[in-house]
Amino acid sequence: NSNRGHVAHADAITSNSIAHADANTSKKKKVVVLGTGWAGMSFLKNLNNSTYDVKVVSPRNFFVFTPLLPSVTCGKVEARSIVEPIRNIIRKKNINVSYCEAECIKIDPASKKIYCRAARATLNTNSKQGEEFEVDYDYLIIAVGAQVNTFNTPGVEGNCHFLKEIEDAQKIRKNVIESFEKASLPNLSEEERKKILHFVVVGGGPTGVEFSGELRDFVNEDVLKLYPTVQHLVKITVIEATDHILNMFDKRITKFAESKFLRDDIDVKLGSMVTKITENEISTKAKGSDKTTSTPYGMVLWSTGIGQRPLIKDFMKQIGQGNRRALATDEWLRVEGCDNVYALGDCATINQRKVVEDIAEIFKRADKDNSGTLTVKKFTDIMDDVIARYPQVKLYMKSKRVRNFVDILTEAKGNAAKETIELSIEEFKTALSVVDSKMKNLPATAQVANQQGAYLAKCFNRMEECEKNPEGPPRFRGTGRHRFHPFRYRHLGQFAPLGGEKTAAQLPGDWVSIGHSSQWLWYSIYASKQVSWRTRALVVSDWIRRFIFGRDASG
Ligand code: FAD
Ligand code: MG
Ligand code: MG
Ligand code: MG
Ligand code: MG
Repeated sequence: NSNRGHVAHADAITSNSIAHADANTSKKKKVVVLGTGWAGMSFLKNLNNSTYDVKVVSPRNFFVFTPLLPSVTCGKVEARSIVEPIRNIIRKKNINVSYCEAECIKIDPASKKIYCRAARATLNTNSKQGEEFEVDYDYLIIAVGAQVNTFNTPGVEGNCHFLKEIEDAQKIRKNVIESFEKASLPNLSEEERKKILHFVVVGGGPTGVEFSGELRDFVNEDVLKLYPTVQHLVKITVIEATDHILNMFDKRITKFAESKFLRDDIDVKLGSMVTKITENEISTKAKGSDKTTSTPYGMVLWSTGIGQRPLIKDFMKQIGQGNRRALATDEWLRVEGCDNVYALGDCATINQRKVVEDIAEIFKRADKDNSGTLTVKKFTDIMDDVIARYPQVKLYMKSKRVRNFVDILTEAKGNAAKETIELSIEEFKTALSVVDSKMKNLPATAQVANQQGAYLAKCFNRMEECEKNPEGPPRFRGTGRHRFHPFRYRHLGQFAPLGGEKTAAQLPGDWVSIGHSSQWLWYSIYASKQVSWRTRALVVSDWIRRFIFGRDASG
């Protein structure tokens, strides 16, 4: 008995010392990051405040440089070259960051807990599924990205390739090579060979277009030499539901891409919806007609856009955002209706504040002499402050396609002379509501996710300073109610590689450039954007290897 008492005592001591250790570490705020994609990686890279205890939870223990995924599909770049182990990224930090290879399956904001499942089953259990566990947080950062959207089209799941993850790119590459090997076998009819070599791309967005270009290059440059007997049977079809491919780009780019594809013998079917896919055929329906046509195919890439992951859908229901399309945050990336939870990247969308919501306050500030009316001069005096808080105003004024803001004010007053206008608050509100209507959600791009991660890390680096000054978001610049500036996106431009060493580039200020020179710009920017010197060296040597020796057609 005395022995047992002794053991109990020892237990008490150890649990005591554990409690003590807990108290020590619990001084550090626990930050949990979900996801190791663009947003999560960028947050981790930029975080440098050692008062946090950071835990990263993601089923994928590496970061993928997604803009180069299409290059992997046809062997221009190797898969290994565009991934960076997350442990390489976090070991370089001076702060305490640990990584868990697991998937978050539920978020419980009430008890500040997440539920996770290990990504791989443990070796010594019979269970096929990974073990489940809980993690507590003080701050949660949701950066789980999005998933492919099939729009519930029958047969997509199971018959189509997606291009979202590195495994997808590898599978496509394997399938492309397989198609050429299969089509080169003896005893096949011409029809059968044609079917095998019919590549269909559903969705004329940047990913679909870039893949088509890559495939066309592969056929022109390498297939010609490697599979000369079947090269002429290849057919590439792009199916797009709207009236144009690349419709998020400038019209000049769209036009150029469409005519280039025409020359390259890529069949672009515009205004065409995919209704069904079976093992051998793809069915489409033209806009405004009831007739469906079915075409035999060999391989389909489905790239029509993204939808939310089940985890996010469930979470949105839980916090009363069930009817939205993406998790809504305010402009500081804080999830609406949820304390200490942040969301960024493809899983989230920023709910921008409308000018009209604050019209009374803006009016009051502009109307310094309380006359009850606004003049153009009074408004232009506070314009800078308004722009700092409501960037849509700036967007509105800069764009060449819309009229200048002062024109809007004058028009609200029946085109009176600029100097004599006096607007009542109601007239002012009507004039400004036009500006709100120009607000657009930020695109689901790496550029946005990357900037959001860096922004949020900066906020976290300065958190203490801001906690001493914990008032809510500032309405106007310079009023002393500063916490952080809201997140502001800086668009640095966008590329659309089209194949044949030609890229279309749309840079800020409506600058469009198409051709070989922008291809070189593309090479240099994409080399410089690599997350590590290791991947940079690998990617560049892959490009050189391909220039000299062509693509590797084994697989
Ligand atoms: P992701 O990068 O998708 O990362 C999500 C992370 O969350 C992953 O690590 C995932 O494993 C993890 N995760 C998933 N579920 C869970 C869970 N339940 N729990 C924990 N972790 C989870 N953008 C550009 O700006 N330029 C381009 O040229 C460009 N090209 C692209 C080409 C392709 C083929 C694709 C697919 C995308 C491209 N994009 C490009 C878009 C860009 O990749 C995305 O916008 C970006 O990846 C979004 O970052 P994210 O961090 O939100 O999500
Ligand atoms: Mg991420
Ligand atoms: Mg990514
Ligand atoms: Mg994503
Ligand atoms: Mg987003």
